[in-house]
Amino acid sequence: MNLLSIVVPCFNEEETVEIFLKEIQKTLNDYNFEIIFINDGSSDNTLKNIKDLANANSNVKYISFSRNFGKESAIYAGLRNASGDLICVMDADLQHPPSLLPEMIESVTNEDYDAVAARRTTRKGEAPIKSFLSSFFYKLFNKISEMGLVEGATDYRVMTRQVVDSILQLSEYNRFSKGLFQWVGFNTKWIPYENIERVAGETTWSLWGLFKYSIEGIVAFTTAPLSVSTLLGTAISIIAFIYMIIIIARYLLYSDPVQGFATTMCAILLLGGMQLLSIGVLGKYLEKTYVETKNRPIYIVKESNIDDE
Ligand code: UDP
Ligand code: MG
Repeated sequence: MNLLSIVVPCFNEEETVEIFLKEIQKTLNDYNFEIIFINDGSSDNTLKNIKDLANANSNVKYISFSRNFGKESAIYAGLRNASGDLICVMDADLQHPPSLLPEMIESVTNEDYDAVAARRTTRKGEAPIKSFLSSFFYKLFNKISEMGLVEGATDYRVMTRQVVDSILQLSEYNRFSKGLFQWVGFNTKWIPYENIERVAGETTWSLWGLFKYSIEGIVAFTTAPLSVSTLLGTAISIIAFIYMIIIIARYLLYSDPVQGFATTMCAILLLGGMQLLSIGVLGKYLEKTYVETKNRPIYIVKESNIDDE
């Protein structure tokens, strides 16, 4: 029977890991599966609780990071250490309903799909501003990156070994998983579900955190913002040239001295602002390039019960 590896990133999930395991055991009682908990530098008792679960269950594995490296790094570590023929990525807080698992497994095993991913159709229990900004992000991202991210796409997915091996080939430091999953291609089936709230604990995502995350995503998957300054510069130069001819013509025809302190100020401020903005965009890409060239490891393991770590 195929082995299913379930990769679960955990950051301060002391209350949820045990509930999570129980729920999975209930759902998958006649499947052959292993769970890989990645303790992403939690400051609570997450690691201790995971170790207790690992001692009691031989199919529970764990990797514990030396500090918090972020969910994307945790997913990468989990995928690298998964030994299954099918691999599932799932949150620890049960916001990704285990009840969908049998259907997802069925689709990759018996239908012609390489991956099955869950898509939230509602955002119940989420601040309206968060939903609005998120929906705006998907539209913007798809427009400028031509990636076709599915709105409401989550990181909850089951993939074949082949898909996971492809993702592992993308060893970049800036890991925007949603984009990486999409980028490797393959046949993906989307399963819609209604958003549910966490069983316990709290989300670690602030609005500011999400904003930074979306910028990371855009910078990682499209260089379109870099062309914006070229376009703006060209447009403004053309307008300025036409305006210059108008001024010269007016002077020659009517000897009309040009006035306008306001016009000058507006032009200076507008141009200055746009230049700074363009330098900022350039800087963002330079920053990412700088970070990538350092070639630092994506995560550092402090301890694990998996042999080859
Ligand atoms: N997570 C992680 N590292 C982090 C932040 C979160 O591994 O730095 C894990 C967290 O434990 C959970 C999943 O990522 O299993 C999703 O996090 P959360 O529930 O806070 O996000 P939300 O569901 O609100 O998007
Ligand atoms: Mg959650």
